[in-house]
Amino acid sequence: MNIPIHYCMQCGSKTHQVIPDGDQKLRHVCSKCDTIHYQNPKIITGCLIEHDNKILLCRRAIEPQHGKWTLPAGFMENNETSSDGAIRETLEEANAKISNVHLYSVYDIPHISQVYMIYRAQLVDMEFSAGSESLEVKLFNKEDIPWTELAFSVIRQTLITYLNDKKSGNYNLQTGVITAEMKSLLKEVPENV
Ligand SMILES: [Zn+2]
Repeated sequence: MNIPIHYCMQCGSKTHQVIPDGDQKLRHVCSKCDTIHYQNPKIITGCLIEHDNKILLCRRAIEPQHGKWTLPAGFMENNETSSDGAIRETLEEANAKISNVHLYSVYDIPHISQVYMIYRAQLVDMEFSAGSESLEVKLFNKEDIPWTELAFSVIRQTLITYLNDKKSGNYNLQTGVITAEMKSLLKEVPENV
């Protein structure tokens, strides 16, 4: 899935789609300066924050999925580490300071060309509130997680895996693939968590 790039990002001339020599995929190539515009997956980094047996969720104030619940997470910026990005997103979306930040899950979402990296972390204090991209920020008991109001399949999968790991106390790195078909599960409350 490539987003159309109609004009060259180097010189502004029109591009055309062509498979460059030695390549296998169609690329947007500048008709004037021959710049090839490669498109690659985006990394989204965020945090699963535990406090007092509860999990911190944010209700989205932005599209997509306005009004739905998610973990604090967002696109990694250039020149930052993935963990720094997760800490930054948590501060931006939940005004929360965190510690003990450890990588917990890496999920590939090939149909939308994204990779999610979620870190487990703990609140430094009880100071948190909705940032500009959140309508509200709340700590949820397991029983109260708004399963049918979650924003994304990857968040649902992360929470299910986490709650299962919590039973055993073994939080090994989780990896997996999120497919387009999993979206229908967002309407269901998971069993056995
Ligand atoms: Zn050009």
